[in-house]
Amino acid sequence: MYEKSKVVELCQKIEKEGLVKGTWGNVSIKDNEKVYITPSGYPYDKMKEEDIMVIDLQGNVLEGFRTPSSEYKLHLAIYKKRDDVNTVIHTHPTYASIVSLVKEYIPPLIEDGVMICGERINVARYGEPGSWDLANKAVEALGKNNAVILKNHGLVTVGENEVEALTTSIVAEKTAHIYVEALKIGEISELSEEDAKKLRYKYLTSYRQKR
Ligand code: 13P
Ligand code: ZN
Repeated sequence: MYEKSKVVELCQKIEKEGLVKGTWGNVSIKDNEKVYITPSGYPYDKMKEEDIMVIDLQGNVLEGFRTPSSEYKLHLAIYKKRDDVNTVIHTHPTYASIVSLVKEYIPPLIEDGVMICGERINVARYGEPGSWDLANKAVEALGKNNAVILKNHGLVTVGENEVEALTTSIVAEKTAHIYVEALKIGEISELSEEDAKKLRYKYLTSYRQKR
């Protein structure tokens, strides 16, 4: 039950942060073998605990009366590949979506972005929404990072808990915004590979919020 209330809270927060418009996007939290996931096409401002679906790692519905998110394969593919991940957030924010149209990745730019998202934010090759193809391409481009952009689509972030996954979404979109604006002004000064690696290492080994 506790997980359902956390999913509802995340829905309210991604909407408040402007990371989604309408009903697109989806959120899940994994607890052992169970995945608590938003229903498909359901408005965030109406979302209640009883609307949250519970599925297993094969995608079978265990609990709930709605249809699980059409992107459940994306969520399951990430949980299967990354045992350090317990929350997945998929949104359609403006700047990450812009980057997905013109670039193959966001290079290392700013401290917070590199620390929490990873040394760079890759843009996954295009896959049809809701397909295993999209899920597999997203997992491949995510690698060990916490954020990946979906080509002509949106953003996916992951975290060891819901706080980290949400902060990653907010910081990834901020990073994309900075990148888009900086590209308009002039030549971009990227962080070196070495400096980026140091920042990510610092985050993973000491800076990451304790619970
Ligand atoms: P759902 O509403 O089915 O969760 O999915 C929307 C979406 O973002 C598809 O990529
Ligand atoms: Zn989507």
